[in-house]
Amino acid sequence: MKRFVQARAAAFRGAIGAALLPLVLGGCATTGINKGQINVISTADEVKMGQEMSAEVAKQYTIYNNAAVTAYVQGVGNKIVQHCDRQDIEYHFAVINKNEVNAFAIPGGYIYVYTELMRDADDEAELAAVIAHEVGHVAARHSTERMTAMYGYQFVASLVLGQNPNACAKLVTDMAATGGFLKYSRKDEHEADELGAKYLYAAGYDPRGMVDLLNKLKGLETTEPTKFDTWFMTHPATSERLARVETEIAGFAKLTSPVRNAAAYAKIKAQLPK
Ligand SMILES: [Zn+2]
Repeated sequence: MKRFVQARAAAFRGAIGAALLPLVLGGCATTGINKGQINVISTADEVKMGQEMSAEVAKQYTIYNNAAVTAYVQGVGNKIVQHCDRQDIEYHFAVINKNEVNAFAIPGGYIYVYTELMRDADDEAELAAVIAHEVGHVAARHSTERMTAMYGYQFVASLVLGQNPNACAKLVTDMAATGGFLKYSRKDEHEADELGAKYLYAAGYDPRGMVDLLNKLKGLETTEPTKFDTWFMTHPATSERLARVETEIAGFAKLTSPVRNAAAYAKIKAQLPK
């Protein structure tokens, strides 16, 4: 699957170069954290696209509709979002019922966490670490950057303009096949970790929550590899991510009472499907 996705991406990339150029010269700037980079999708268009895609996600995935669980995840998300670099959109959080370790963000600030990943986390700080990583992708506008690079500006523009009703469904089908939004680059993944650790810490959570969760996943990768099929496709080696996050958080000043919220998390975990 990975090879298929990459080959297709390369084919699309070739076709879109010419279409992108006039827009780039027209001077579009991104509103995300990476202001120096070009992103041809405006925030308003990204939000519109996100609304359309989130409706499609609700059709193609099984959303776990438990009011207490959703409210809890949204609450943790809101704490992270308050400290993130991107405040020009609203963030939405939902849980997907699937026995797979994963989480993803689509354009417009829609973030999804899988029930299996929630079962593997042991406290709120670990869940917050996953959410903070996804908020990092949103703040840096990785999804629209990757989408434009993979599918081309014309495809993306047709989505925004509603000219291509099947495009959104196709995009979400592709996403389901690859387990996440798109194949982000290693650089994107490390940037999301870096921003995520920063937001986690700024929100008052123990930044070691990110290290602890990554360590746990590293162990499970060996004992239960089938749960990681798409995770492997979409994320760089866990040991490399761990080393970088360890270095980053070593530079943070010690928090007086870093939040873990293990008891509150245990109650929510008890409400997840087995
Ligand atoms: Zn990621």
